Amino acid sequence: MKVLKFGGTSVGSPERIKKLLDIINPEERQIVVLSAVSGTTNSLLEISQAYLAADKSKAAELTAILKAKYDLFIKELFSSDEGLENGKNLIDYHFNLISSFANAHFTAIEEKIILAQGELISTTLYHFYLTEIGVKSKLLPALVFMKIDEDNEPVIDFISEHIQPLLDPETNLFITQGYICRNSFGEIDNLRRGGSDYTASLIGAAIRAEEVQIWTDIDGMHNNDPRIVKGTKPIARLSFDEAAELAYFGAKILHPQSVFPAQKFKVPVRLLNTMEPKASGTLITNDSERGKIKSIAAKDGITAIKIQSSRMLLAYGFLRRVFEIFERYKTPIDMITTSEVAVSVTIDDISNLAEIIKELNNFGTVEVDYNQTIVCVVGDFGADKHGFAARVLEALKHIPIRMISYGGSHFNISLLINDGDKVEALRSLHNRLFE
Ligand code: ADP
Ligand code: ASP
Ligand code: MG
Repeated sequence: MKVLKFGGTSVGSPERIKKLLDIINPEERQIVVLSAVSGTTNSLLEISQAYLAADKSKAAELTAILKAKYDLFIKELFSSDEGLENGKNLIDYHFNLISSFANAHFTAIEEKIILAQGELISTTLYHFYLTEIGVKSKLLPALVFMKIDEDNEPVIDFISEHIQPLLDPETNLFITQGYICRNSFGEIDNLRRGGSDYTASLIGAAIRAEEVQIWTDIDGMHNNDPRIVKGTKPIARLSFDEAAELAYFGAKILHPQSVFPAQKFKVPVRLLNTMEPKASGTLITNDSERGKIKSIAAKDGITAIKIQSSRMLLAYGFLRRVFEIFERYKTPIDMITTSEVAVSVTIDDISNLAEIIKELNNFGTVEVDYNQTIVCVVGDFGADKHGFAARVLEALKHIPIRMISYGGSHFNISLLINDGDKVEALRSLHNRLFE
């Protein structure tokens, strides 16, 4: 069985939704994961922010604007009175729910309920549309099986146990919501922005799917960020490790965590273009083309912290004590470099930075650099180590570099630079490494 995920633009208009049947073959047994219609999650976030700021009139205004979009959407999507009536009832139901929060004490719990409405709407609309045109499908409620634990980690066994019984043998085409889940308290939650990719990979792992296909608006993983660099090209094949590095370090085409479940259960992942279904896209498996630089990505909004301490000299256990502080504040570290008397680390979650710095001050002098970017060059550097790092550094010789990380694995070279140098760094690396 395959899992096919369609992102926001792929369901972004009634026309696009109707075209999905060019890709989905209703005769084949498969699970289709849908995102919210593009722009919807952003709008729901704005509505929630208005509620959080106790600005009820702004929330009402934004809700009315979004609802008006859906009122038009369903008019174009359905051609029968019955279909339109079903669509209208659905939209009214979800927007009445959103509006009802005007009378509630609004917290992060209510916010997550609002954020879940986009995927609940898109999947039900698609199911209604298929019903209208006589194609049989079944909705799988993600809130029944998609579960995260107290550390926000998905529970694959739970997902597997609870999705399998829903896959009745009489049905071929199953449709479910990306992004949304329940947390350890049983509340509605989500897998973070872009999380529908993660849903697809988790389902793929849970049912040991034959393949996971991520259908989006571009023909696969490109060798650099196409939003910044001209002339980027799709990469035919990537290993899970390479894809994970790229996703984690900023290649927006994939949710940062989405590779791991598929990798764990060796489910191939294909990145494909809805607008150009025949293009071969990118295939992600355990294999990789050896000895090649594959792609460049960048993640900004990074903070670097340097701890300088003479107590580090010839001491053991120093790094453990430093890392324990980050662990206690549940703050992941991305990059590390050390010298004999100092260690530099980077983080992207600075919500507990003040407390972390306070504790680090007990060890020595602490310096913090904000507005940093990690530029990450990914490929297979294992087979022939000669010259890769030199080519990367040569391309960046005119840009100040704050940290370099090489050798942690044989598929990644990461460099920390100022946010302001990101565009030039990506372009220069592209010219030197691929042109
Ligand atoms: P979807 O809504 O289908 O999930 P996303 O917007 O999340 O789509 O991801 C696709 C976008 O990712 C592309 O339109 C592209 O601009 C962006 N992107 C960033 N880096 C890369 C890359 N290395 N390769 C391909 N796309 C990338
Ligand atoms: N709708 C969610 C978002 O916009 C999830 C996704 O599209 O993957 O972040
Ligand atoms: Mg996405």
